[in-house]
Formats: sequence, structure tokens, C-alpha cells
Amino acid sequence: MIPFEYRTPKNLKEVHATLKEFGSDAKLIAGGTSLVIMMKQRLVRPSCLVSLRSVRGLNSIEISDGGLRIGGLATHREVESSSLLRRRLPMLTETYHHVATIRVRNMATVGGGLAHADPNQDPPPSLIALGATVKATSADGSRVIPMDDFFTDYYETVLNPDEIVTEVFVPKMAANTAGAYLKFLPRTADDYATVSAAAVLTLDKTHKIISDVRIALGSVGVTPIRATAAEAILRGQPLKAEAFAEAGEKAKEAVDPVSDFRGSAAYKKEMAGVFVRRALEKALANIRQQARVKASPKAAKKTTKKGKKH
Ligand SMILES: Cc1cc2nc3c(=O)[nH]c(=O)nc-3n(C[C@H](O)[C@H](O)[C@H](O)COP(=O)(O)OP(=O)(O)OC[C@H]3O[C@@H](n4cnc5c(N)ncnc54)[C@H](O)[C@@H]3O)c2cc1C
Repeated sequence: MIPFEYRTPKNLKEVHATLKEFGSDAKLIAGGTSLVIMMKQRLVRPSCLVSLRSVRGLNSIEISDGGLRIGGLATHREVESSSLLRRRLPMLTETYHHVATIRVRNMATVGGGLAHADPNQDPPPSLIALGATVKATSADGSRVIPMDDFFTDYYETVLNPDEIVTEVFVPKMAANTAGAYLKFLPRTADDYATVSAAAVLTLDKTHKIISDVRIALGSVGVTPIRATAAEAILRGQPLKAEAFAEAGEKAKEAVDPVSDFRGSAAYKKEMAGVFVRRALEKALANIRQQARVKASPKAAKKTTKKGKKH
């Protein structure tokens, strides 16, 4: 590794000042799980590392404005094991649970993961499907960026070099809504996805009409991809088994995967369709499960116990 300066600011103000001082020569380091590898490979060569480890108060997970606010420095493990999120947004605890191994999840942070912007990562499709936003701050102020607009290219985001991801906000879900994230892992349990799909489905109060839906995919392009044409097929339509398969077929048109050791481009495209259909089916099953819990909390509890990966 080439020599670099190492700064340990104690609060956001000091972080902002250090980033301003070094400009694009500085790099934030949070968990360090990706950045250190990239530095070792000389893909990035910062002259200053600005550590976020001593900055307090940016790892909380709380209810806010009816939605959920997750600090940019919350670790993947903190998200995965948050009882609040497990209760209010199990799709997100399951998504973060899928990331790598427990050792990586103990170090990796929510903000660092998003800024890293590898299109094979797990959280982005779920956060896009959930309609989340990212708050980025700098010495000049702060702005809120919809997850839909956050990723611009392979390992690229709209963040400026002096901006820090300080929080992610997931808005309150409408009634009769649930989501699901599925990761296709034909190799090992701790691998990156061959294909991943997230779906958030809303039914009307009769549970017969799809009033809204959001679908996003990972590992099938240079950024995570929202499948808007597939959503359009479903939105406002009666709930029918074949509709999910049709949406899966349509989602295939939105993806542009590359062939690699996880599968050929053609195979990934096929799997994108399959996993969109399955994510929609699972989201529907989760809505029905929620309805059962609401109707009879005790009986439904028995069916929700799950195994854990470590
Ligand atoms: C062995 C291994 C396996 C992995 N497998 C998976 C997987 O299966 N699924 C998956 O989703 N991911 C996987 N990852 C990627 C992992 O999710 C990322 O490495 C991690 O999320 C990065 O977070 P970090 O806090 O360590 O970021 P760092 O490595 O500290 O930083 C990464 C980038 O983000 C910037 N940065 C850090 N914090 C902020 C911030 N708050 N605001 C703005 N910029 C910031 C840094 O400057 C750097 O450019 C894997 C990583 C490893 C090493």
C-alpha cells in the first residue's frame, strides 16, 4: 500500500472539515471491508483516510415520521439483529442477513455498503423496492437522495467526494403491504448473488387487486435495476397467479447481466425472471401471513420461527 495520512475526527463537523481540507484526495473509511481491499489492489490511492469509527450517534435505528431511520454507521449486524426492524421491516433484516459472513457483517456499515456501490450487493435492491432515501451531508449542508437515483454506474454513485451518508430512511408501508428479498446462491452461502430480486407488494383492502408494487434486481447490470415495466403489468390489476410469471418475463427485458463464474448472461437473465416471480409470490405470502397474525397473533407466531445462518 502507498503511504497515507490517517485522521480520526470525533464528530461530523470535524469529518466535514477534514474532507474539505483534502478534497478528492481523501477517502472515508467506515468498516473498511471493501476500501482496504481496493487500496491493497491499488484501485484507489487516497492520500488521507478519514476514519468514521470515533464518530458517535450515527448508528441508531429508530422509528421516525412513521417510517424507519437507520444511521449511516449502523453495521450490517446491527440492522440484521435489530428487534425493531425484525418486527416492523423483516424484509430488511433478512436482506442484511444475506450479506457475506457474520465477520463481514460485524464490520460493514450501511453507509459504507451503499457508497461502495457494487451492483452485486444485497441491500440496494431491497432499499429501492422499499422506496428508501439516503441522506448525505457535507460542510455545505445536506440533501436527501431517492435510492432510485443513487447508483449511476459500476461502483459509482451520485455522492460527491465531500459527502457522507449519514442515514437511510425507509418510509412507512401502506396497509396490506409486504416485501421479500431473494438471493440466488448456487455456489456457497456466503457468496455474492448470481441474481437477486426484491419485491414490495400492496393489495387493496379486499386483497383482490394489486394497488402498488415495486420490483428491483441485483447482479444483473452495472447498477441495481428497478423493473418498472414489470411493475406496470401488475399495478391496478386483479391478483392472479399467472400475473407474477408475466411480470417475471417482463423484468427480463430490463436486465443486462454479464457472463462470469457465477453463470452465463443468458442464464442470469432467465433466473432474473424466475426470481422476480418468486419474490412476488413470497411478498404475497408475507401479506397473507401478516393478515393471519392480525387476526390471531398467537396461532400465527408458531409459523414464523426461522433458522439462522452464521
Ligand atoms: C469477503 C467479502 C464478502 C462480501 N460479500 C457480500 C455479499 O454477499 N453481499 C453484499 O451485499 N456485500 C458483500 N460484501 C461487500 C460489503 O457489503 C461491503 O464491503 C461493505 O458493505 C462496505 O461497508 P464498509 O463500512 O466496510 O465500507 P468501507 O470499506 O469502509 O468503505 C467502502 C466505500 O464507502 C465509502 N464510505 C464509507 N462510509 C461512508 C459513508 N458513511 N458515507 C459515504 N461514503 C462512505 C468509502 O470511502 C469507500 O469508498 C462483501 C465484502 C467482503 C470483504
